[in-house]
Amino acid sequence: MNVVLIGYRGCGKTTVGRMLANRNDAGFVDTDELIVHQAGASIADIFANQGEPHFRKLEEAAINMATKSAGRVISVGGGAVESKTNRSTLRGYGTVVWLQADIQTLWNRISSDAQSQGQRPNLAGGGLEEVEQVLNRRTPLYAELAHVAIATTNRHPNAIAEDIEAWLAIQ
Ligand code: ADP
Ligand code: MG
Repeated sequence: MNVVLIGYRGCGKTTVGRMLANRNDAGFVDTDELIVHQAGASIADIFANQGEPHFRKLEEAAINMATKSAGRVISVGGGAVESKTNRSTLRGYGTVVWLQADIQTLWNRISSDAQSQGQRPNLAGGGLEEVEQVLNRRTPLYAELAHVAIATTNRHPNAIAEDIEAWLAIQ
C-alpha cells in the first residue's frame, strides 16, 4: 500500500498512520519524526533556533526521502501541503487520505497531548481562533490534494484505519 495521510495537526495522522501500517505489514514513515531523528532536535527547537523556512526545507527533503520507496504509509506535518513541490511529490506517491476533525476536537486533542507539547512548535498564541484561521487557509489545499476525506471526530483510530482499508479495497 502506498498511502499518504494529510490533515491539520491533531487530526491523528501519526496515530492512524502507524496503526494502518502495522495492520497491513507496510512500512511507516512519519516525516516529522524523520526530521527530528535526522536533525537531532525537536521541531519546536528547529523552529525556535533556525526558523520555519529552514524547517520547511528539512520537511521537503524528508518527504522526498520518505517517498523514495514503495509500500509505505507516510504521515506528514500539517503544514506540508503549503508547498506546491510537496503536494506534487505526495500525490505522485499514492493514495492521499485527508483526516478531518472539527475545530473543537482538534483543539482538545492538541491541548491535551502533553507528551508532544514540548516537541511541536507553539501555536502563535491565538488559541482556537488561530486553529480556525490556519485550517481555513489549508482546507482548499487538503481538498485539492486528497483522493478521499475521512471524518475522525468521535471515532476510534482503529475504526479510521478500517475505513481507509475499506476505501482502498474498492479502488
Ligand atoms: P497528528 O499526527 O495529525 O498531529 P496525532 O496522531 O499526533 O496527530 O494525534 C494527536 C493527539 O490526538 C494524540 O494525543 C492522539 O493520541 C490523539 N488522537 C489521535 N487520533 C485520535 C482519535 N481518533 N480519537 C481520539 N484521540 C485521537
Ligand atoms: Mg503527527
